[in-house]
Parts: sequence; C-alpha cells; structure tokens
Amino acid sequence: MNENSDLARELLANHDDPWLGVNLLSEFVFCPRAGLIESERSREDVGEDEEPPASVSYMPPHEISDIVWRIEQTTRGMARWLPVPAAACLITMVLAWRLGWVPAMAGLFVTACLAKPIFTSLEELRKLKELLAFAESRKPVVPDPKIEANQDVNWWELRKAHFEPVKPPRGLEDDATHLIGKPWRILTREGMQIPVFKKRIDGPNPTTVYRQHYARMAAYCYLLERATGAESPYGIILFGYTYTGVALNAKASRRHFREGLLAARQAIKDSQNSMLPPAPDPPDPCRGCPHGKPSVKKTSTADSGDGNPKTIGADGREYHSDCGDRFGWVPPHERAEKKQLRRA
Ligand code: SF4
Repeated sequence: MNENSDLARELLANHDDPWLGVNLLSEFVFCPRAGLIESERSREDVGEDEEPPASVSYMPPHEISDIVWRIEQTTRGMARWLPVPAAACLITMVLAWRLGWVPAMAGLFVTACLAKPIFTSLEELRKLKELLAFAESRKPVVPDPKIEANQDVNWWELRKAHFEPVKPPRGLEDDATHLIGKPWRILTREGMQIPVFKKRIDGPNPTTVYRQHYARMAAYCYLLERATGAESPYGIILFGYTYTGVALNAKASRRHFREGLLAARQAIKDSQNSMLPPAPDPPDPCRGCPHGKPSVKKTSTADSGDGNPKTIGADGREYHSDCGDRFGWVPPHERAEKKQLRRA
C-alpha cells in the first residue's frame, strides 16, 4: 500500500490533467498516435481487447455450473427436435413403399436436412462434456506473488484454487491520478483481488505480452489496491476466448504504467497545442496496427477530404486509414505495402 501511495504522489494529476481510461493508457503505451486517435473516440473500458466480429461466434463458459447448464440445454433442445427428422424418416419410408424410390429421394433429402441440427448438437455436446471433464480434473494452482517473471496459468486451475470471479459493475476511479478502468473480471481469494483482462489473439503473436499489456495490468492492480485496500500483487491475462493465460507481476510491470501515464498526459497536452507525436521508429508496430490498416475510400474528393493529398493504390483506387487521415501520411501497414499505396 505504501508503494501505491508513493506512486499516487508521483503520478498526482493537476486539475487540468485529463481523466484517462486504462484501455486508453495502454493505447498510448503501444503508440502515442494510436492513443490520440482513441482519445478522440472515448470508448468504455470493458477489460477485453476488441475482437473482430467473426471470432465472437462462440463465447466459452467460464463456470462449471454454466457448462452443466449448457449440456442440459443442448440435450433438451435435441430431445425436442428429434421427433421432426424421425417423422420425416417415417414419411420417407411410406413414400418408398407406396410410390417407389423416386419420390422417396426427395423425402430422404428433407430428412437429412432436418437431422442436421441433431448432429450439430451432438458435436456441441461432445465438446461440452470434454470441457467439463477437463475443468473438473484440474489441480489447484496459485501463482506466486513473489515471482517477477510471467507465470503460465489456466483458468480452471485458478478456479480450483478458489479464486472467485466477480464482474465489476462499474469502473474503478482514482481521483489522485485521474485514472479509471474496469477489468474483465476480478478474482478474489484470501484478501487478494486479482484483475483479469483478455488479449486478442488474431495477430501474428497471440501469446506474446507487450509493454502496453504490462502497463495496463499494473494500472488495474494499482486501481484495485487504491479502491479496495486489498492486495493485488499480480494480474491475469487470458488469451482471447481460451482458458490459458499468464500472470503478470504488478511490481515488475509498474515502470510501464508510470512512464505510459506521464507520456499520455504530455501527448494530449501537446496535441492541444498542435504538436503531434512522431510515428514509431522503427515502424514495426504499424505493420499490423488496426488504426493504420487501409481500406478503399467510399467518397472521393479533389484532395483526401481532410486537406491532405490522396492515397492511391497500384489498382488505381483511393485508400485511407484512421491514422493516415488523422496524421496526413501513409502508415507502413503490411496491407499498404501489398497495395503499393502512395500519396498522389
Ligand atoms: S499506424 Fe503506426 S503510427 Fe499509426 S497508430 Fe498505428 S502504430 Fe501508431
């Protein structure tokens, strides 16, 4: 707690310093330009990296009771639907007996279509039962708060060790630093409150932890300790919609939080005085950055519409990106290279 008081003093916000969300802070740590773009959008911190919609089709359960409930629901759904293909099968047999196999072929096709949801449910049931067996067979594991290196964790092993998940109803606020943040879940156990957030895994290095993740975790731990008085010696990152992740030590991550917060405040102040942050050098973060990903511009104008020259691809079409529009350049995103984008 003393360390947090020292940190609060060191990071004490002036009355004109902006309030920052933890998500936004981590954007600034990733790249100050990304932070500025996000600060101009102001989104709520929900403790999850944004996933592309296609990968959100299946939200895995995080409670054993939820798995059991889904097994029951799936079994009930199957039992309710089973009479439909069974009746179609009976009608097909009658058709085959009375009218021959030619009209029965249509009945067979309809029966197969009607039976498809049963096979889908059987597959779902198999996966849920496997997951239930896996979750119940885990041994309890508690990450060591004294270890500064990252420790591999599994959600079900933490649950076996009686870490109880709580969904925070609202963001945690700290008046001293003007910081606000809401982790995806808080795991509570024996006086500890452990923040959990999810990292998106659709990028090239799904399980690599970068400095923005350390900054974000240290910020959540700081907020939790300040708000509740509980100990928050580490936090958990889960990799996307999986049950595996890593525990990050709060103390070892604090440097990124401290430096990131001071840099974010400065970047916002500078931008109000028309001083924009430089692009990353080397530009590696731009290659997969969603803010720099170019897309075809829908309405073309004499210039790009924001006073900047147009960005044209080798296919002759006009492109743009959030970062390109905001900072008047062509971010070196891998898609920009593929499309051979240039200012015209
Ligand atoms: S494209 Fe590059 S400069 Fe722009 S926000 Fe992304 S990382 Fe930053």
